Amino acid sequence: MTSQIQRGQSRVDLHLHSTASDGTTAPSGVVELAAACGLQSIALTDHDSTAGIAEARKAGSKVGVDVITGIEMSTAFTRGELHMLGYLIDPENSTLRDRLQQFRDSRERRAETIVERLQAAGIPITLERVLASAAGGAIGRPHVARALVEAGQAKSVADAFDRFLVPGKVGYVPHFRLTPPEAIELIHAANGVAVLAHPYSTGAVETIVPELVADGLDGLEVFYSLYNDDQQAFLARLAGHHDLVPTGGSDFHGTGEREGHEIGSANVPDDTVDRLRRVAAAKR
Ligand code: AMP
Ligand code: ZN
Ligand code: FE
Ligand code: FE
Repeated sequence: MTSQIQRGQSRVDLHLHSTASDGTTAPSGVVELAAACGLQSIALTDHDSTAGIAEARKAGSKVGVDVITGIEMSTAFTRGELHMLGYLIDPENSTLRDRLQQFRDSRERRAETIVERLQAAGIPITLERVLASAAGGAIGRPHVARALVEAGQAKSVADAFDRFLVPGKVGYVPHFRLTPPEAIELIHAANGVAVLAHPYSTGAVETIVPELVADGLDGLEVFYSLYNDDQQAFLARLAGHHDLVPTGGSDFHGTGEREGHEIGSANVPDDTVDRLRRVAAAKR
């Protein structure tokens, strides 16, 4: 498996965010950037939203980039937050649509609560600016962070998070989340495959992965831009051991937005989408 870990020109990037959640580039713009850097297959994986997929697919058919459907669902587990990627899901599936509406409502109410708390703490920030930053997409803490920077209350998005938006700080409010097994079940209900995103973020890869496998996990995000070769080699072995599809991506949020997350920067094997399709087909 280690032989796959050679950094070079990648043709696949399966972890991309757009303005449908907290990315700064519109879905069509993400696809144009993908084409410009030589990507052939991509997935848009917005947080708790499939709203950008139709636009991305349309742009993909124009510029010759294969856009598969994707989502990144935030889930709650004992250690905090765990992100579950869903690939090849049917965005029209009614069970999925109902849940996503619930997420959207919860994120909107949460944004209001965050702004109220910050205002009560004397921070001059308005809901209007936060909503403008989200521009109709799934509202998240990065939108609040950008509004705080605009208002001169933080030096950068990272600074805004550190001072106001992480657990223990005045503006931290959780939003509605499923548990990891519920997210896997929902992804399967929508005919998709479930992949654990940036596995090291869980802080307990070796114990979490077997648990999720028992819950029906299909894949592991091995080729994540930020992970070094040793980390990727370890995850590749873990994926092989549990018969999980090794996937990968950059977690792009916009040009220059996050260091080490440039679009196309993950070294993802060319056959990854075919492998995901085979797993999805075997379930139907
Ligand atoms: P939310 O889903 O609204 O809770 O926000 C999650 C988003 O915030 C994800 O895109 C994270 O990458 C981003 N995020 C979480 N913590 C930080 C941090 N300390 N600095 C910058 N971005 C962060
Ligand atoms: Zn994000
Ligand atoms: Fe994530
Ligand atoms: Fe992400």
